[in-house]
Amino acid sequence: MTLISTSLGSVGIFVSREVTGPGGNHMFGIEYLNLRRSDWPENWPETCKGKKQSPINIDDSEVKINKNLRDIKFVNYDKVLNNPVLVNNGHSVKLDIEDDSNVPKIQDGGLKAEYKFQQLHFHWGSENTTGSEHTLNNKIYPMEMHLVHYNSKYEKDEAHNYEDGLAVLAVFIKIDANDNNAFSAFSQNLKFVYGNDSYDISSSDLTLQALLPKDSLYYRYQGSLTTPPCNETVIWTVFANPVTIGIEQIKEFRNESLDDLVNNFRPIQNLNDRTVEKSYNSGIQQLPQVVIVLASFVVVGSW
Ligand SMILES: [Zn+2]
Repeated sequence: MTLISTSLGSVGIFVSREVTGPGGNHMFGIEYLNLRRSDWPENWPETCKGKKQSPINIDDSEVKINKNLRDIKFVNYDKVLNNPVLVNNGHSVKLDIEDDSNVPKIQDGGLKAEYKFQQLHFHWGSENTTGSEHTLNNKIYPMEMHLVHYNSKYEKDEAHNYEDGLAVLAVFIKIDANDNNAFSAFSQNLKFVYGNDSYDISSSDLTLQALLPKDSLYYRYQGSLTTPPCNETVIWTVFANPVTIGIEQIKEFRNESLDDLVNNFRPIQNLNDRTVEKSYNSGIQQLPQVVIVLASFVVVGSW
């Protein structure tokens, strides 16, 4: 296993910070101070200049369908989250939970291990024409949600150092006239995290399943964290179909009290020699093997 080393001291913009309070695990344990986006390329460390960086544009005419990429298995995604806490960490709004036996997990779908849910967070724009990190056929969505999972064979705060350490699900979000109830837990409580605050949203009875698109089709590629130190240790799953957020709900994310967070997306990175794969969706319900064997027997017998 490759252990990626990062030199955090070289540019002097990073702080390692202990976070206290409920669900206080930091995004990857590392914070970066409020840099203007225009300063990012010069100030980000060497690890942000690799050949497998994220986000990318996905060109559907260039992707390779992989028949081994079947549906992801979502475990405990239908269970109400344990002590979910909304956190303004200075560069996004994220949701932390406390681990328990019902922690949501993903497996299969081409993943070679079980990955446990760690946190989710959002990237969004000040206008409808900007916001998502990934783009699909050069289309930019106004918002993108990242559900971060870590390989359960590693410690939660160490996983980002390993080549197979993280699996992130990316969901595009488009705007609709109607509210999406699943996002109310966020939009209605953002006012409680205008400062660098956290706020318990247990009462919202939130499940992760409610936040996912109904269609399971997805793209897969190997990439990086989109914030420093940009470790190239992320297996990305980008769902092909968006979910919706209400126009009134996204206004809450664009509130002037969250001005430091809006437009918190990293620019598109070069694909270089990577191939983006697409999951296999034949549109035909797969029959269990025994039914296929019986069916052949009937055909032969009646011949
Ligand atoms: Zn993200």
